[in-house]
This record gives sequence, C-alpha cells and structure tokens, in this order.
Amino acid sequence: MDTQLVKQLSQLKLAGIIKTLDIRNQEAIKSNLSYVEFLELLIEDELTNRKDNAYKKKFYRAHFPYTKTLEEFDFTFQEKLDKRLIFDLATCNFIRKKENVIFIGPPGVGKTHLSIAIGLKAIAQNFNVIFTTVSDMLSNILISKADGTFYQKLKYYTNCDLLILDELGYKRLNPNVVDEFFEVISRRYEKSSTIITSNKSFKEWGDIFHDSVLASAIIDRIIHHCNVVIIQGESYRMKDKKLKNKGVISGV
Ligand code: ADP
Ligand code: MG
Repeated sequence: MDTQLVKQLSQLKLAGIIKTLDIRNQEAIKSNLSYVEFLELLIEDELTNRKDNAYKKKFYRAHFPYTKTLEEFDFTFQEKLDKRLIFDLATCNFIRKKENVIFIGPPGVGKTHLSIAIGLKAIAQNFNVIFTTVSDMLSNILISKADGTFYQKLKYYTNCDLLILDELGYKRLNPNVVDEFFEVISRRYEKSSTIITSNKSFKEWGDIFHDSVLASAIIDRIIHHCNVVIIQGESYRMKDKKLKNKGVISGV
C-alpha cells in the first residue's frame, strides 16, 4: 500500500479507510468499480469503523460485570413476566422520556440479567450508561469525600443517560452515605433515567435507608415516572440445579 497515502489518511484520522483500503482497491480493480462507487465503499467502511469504536468506548465505560442479552433471556421460564413491557423497555424510549425502571424480586430471577440486557440496547442507541452495584457506588462516593473528588464522583454518577444501580437492599446502607444516595437520585430526577434492582419491596426500603422519611423522599422521586417490574418466579439458578439433579445437564 502507498505509505504516503496511509500517512495522510492517518493524519486525517481515517483509520477505517486505512483498514480496508487494500482490499477495496483489489475489489475496485476486479469489479471495475467507478471512482464514486470506490469512494462510497471507503466512506461506508470509515463510518462503520467509527460506529464500532463509539460502541466499544461506551461499552467499556459502562463497566458491565458481564454481558447478558435479551435474546438469551428465557421468557418461558418467567411466564408471569410482562414480556411486552420488557421489549418496550428495550426500545429505550423510557430513557428518552427520562423514566426510571425498578426490578423487584427474589435472587436469581433475572433482575441483573435484564438490566444489563437493557443497558446494552441503550449503548447500541448511543446512550451513555453506567452499571454499578449500590454498595460500590456508595463506597466510591465515600472514598471521594475523603480524597477531595466528591463533586467529580457525584457528576460521574449523575451525568450519564442511564445509571443502573444493582442490588439495592442486599446490605443495609452505611448510614454515612444515605444522604449521598438521595443526592444522586435527586440530581437525576426528571433529567435522566435510572434502573434499580432490588430484592426488597418498597415497604422494606425504609429499613435499607435507616430513615423512613428519607426512604419515602427517595421512593417518591424514583417512582414518579417509573416502570415497576415485579418478578415473582423461581430462581433460574435453581432450574439449573434441578436439571443437574435429574441428570439432564452436568457441570453446574
Ligand atoms: P438476580 O439479579 O435476579 O439475582 P440474575 O440476573 O443474576 O438474577 O440471574 C441469575 C443467573 O440466571 C444469571 O446467570 C442469568 O443470566 C440467569 N437467568 C436468570 N433468569 C433467566 C432467564 N429467564 N433466562 C435465562 N437466563 C436467566
Ligand atoms: Mg442480581
């Protein structure tokens, strides 16, 4: 390949074209493409490459603990789950409307799976997403208070289009950071969307926050524009265990 041309493409930050130039050039010669057709192919490659890079950057910044997709979710296992609502959430219209989502249910019913799956759809639509457990977020905020980066951290959790707060209620919150939890929720209220997963019903949230007044202020802001998804089924992990006991699958 012409090194001078590659250098210039690099200066123009056209990495997508650099990647495919050689093969497109061979294609153009073999298929007798017009100059415009050749150019169109190269521009398309550049756009595809930029889109891929943007997706990768957003995916990396989201900090998903692992990848789970909607396509992998077995709706027949959660028969009572409102499939239409889940697919509606996957369109990400709730993010455009600045609505929230709360998944409530016992362990293993797919709350984290569904929130990651929706988070991935959001990234594909170019939204900025952050995934964190409630306890990780609050300990990061606590650390930031000690090292003088508190407002930076607060901005980090409040500026994204979709914040996924996993596992509210598994542990009682540290009383020193309950106010900060309120602060994050308040700052996001009607400005951006939050998904919360919890194994506790709203009635039990007072206990998590140590303070029923603060709990109702938090619940108030979260549920004002909110899609509440209650999953009452059995744990999917139990399904695997049962199948293993029956000898249907091994290694679980
Ligand atoms: P929760 O967050 O409600 O405790 P998870 O989302 O972590 O549950 O689900 C536990 C495991 O079971 C994960 O590996 C998840 O992918 C899987 N899982 C849960 N429900 C389903 C389902 N309906 N279809 C496919 N996999 C599921
Ligand atoms: Mg979970």
